[in-house]
Amino acid sequence: MDCWTCEKAALGACRFCGRGACREHAQQRPYIVGLYRTRPGDDLRAVVVEDALHCGVCHPRGEPVPLPELE
Ligand SMILES: [Zn+2]
Ligand SMILES: [Zn+2]
Repeated sequence: MDCWTCEKAALGACRFCGRGACREHAQQRPYIVGLYRTRPGDDLRAVVVEDALHCGVCHPRGEPVPLPELE
């Protein structure tokens, strides 16, 4: 796999979109792994990876996007 930006060998794949990124172009971005409640009625808490690999190209949304209704 090659870097999406410069086409050199990639260091890893973007956690959000799967594009490759080399050390020069890889960025870091918090990634929500999961959501949970400790007890019913408690606030929802997120398990977050603070430094997930980001390609710098895609634009992940901070919150889930509602799907348009399908007819
Ligand atoms: Zn690159
Ligand atoms: Zn990406």
